[in-house]
Amino acid sequence: MAKIIDGKAIAAEIRGRIKEETVELKKIGVTPGLAVVLVGEDPASRVYVSMKEKACAEAGIFSDEHKLPAETSETQLLELIDRLNRDDRIDGILVQLPLPSHIDETRVLEAISPAKDVDGFHPYNVGRLATGNPLFQPCTPYGIMKMLEHTGTDLTGKDVVVVGRSNIVGKPVALMCLAKHASVTLCHSRTRNLADKVRAADVVIAAVGRAEMVKGDWIKEGAVVIDVGINRVGEKKLVGDVEYAAAAARAGAITPVPGGVGPMTIAMLLQNTLESAQRRARR
Ligand code: NDP
Repeated sequence: MAKIIDGKAIAAEIRGRIKEETVELKKIGVTPGLAVVLVGEDPASRVYVSMKEKACAEAGIFSDEHKLPAETSETQLLELIDRLNRDDRIDGILVQLPLPSHIDETRVLEAISPAKDVDGFHPYNVGRLATGNPLFQPCTPYGIMKMLEHTGTDLTGKDVVVVGRSNIVGKPVALMCLAKHASVTLCHSRTRNLADKVRAADVVIAAVGRAEMVKGDWIKEGAVVIDVGINRVGEKKLVGDVEYAAAAARAGAITPVPGGVGPMTIAMLLQNTLESAQRRARR
């Protein structure tokens, strides 16, 4: 049976360490600050934003909340970002996505100073990651790498298969595994013979958004399986992108859903905010 990679426990450990480092920074007069911007009333976004605010409070990070009405114009939002870019108390700016349809998401994300882009979505930070010299790493992939580190997985020379090529998970995690000297295969909806590719993988990272589409019998004996997917089945049940029970019977280690990658994402947002504040302290 596979070892369960307990994202909740790893995230709690990381958050505890961030809290300690925040105390140290405060001693030299630097309080890490995260601005969280929410436009509109999307219920899921509201939940995410309140989780982020709570996590900041627990870690001793100053959170500067901006809850704007759905009819906020793009110009008003860009003005706010400009103010936050110039605000010395703010180390990170997070604009909760999705934005209302009358606002150009790309324009907004590109207006965030790359030095405060804690989500790591600005093309400058994407470029830094692609060239092997990251400044901010996107939170979910960064969390995945921390989980792999935690399991003691050395990626050197390993075959990693990533299923899903989104800008927020698949592509960046593929780049991060490459930087750790893995041979990476990046799969997507047009990939042929997906099952065969997964069968050859030492590490499988599934970020698709389709309930249990990666079958348990595709998993190589002893492989490490990271399941990023969050899929609601029926009223209450959440499942991942991997057929969990069958995969766990073959894998060496596997993340559960929920309690796997999910808790890591917020921990890494705090980590990015802390790193940014530490850079401010050095300046
Ligand atoms: P996207 O919808 O942006 O991307 C999904 C990817 O899966 C695409 O690249 C798509 O291919 C690919 N895909 C779709 N169908 C298939 C298929 N049949 N075979 C192979 N590949 C396929 O999703 P995200 O990356 O944003 O999210 C993926 C999942 O991870 C979701 O369940 C999401 O909820 C979850 N998630 C969880 C987070 C966490 O904190 N735990 C954070 C972020 C996401 P193509 O490009 O060809 O369309």
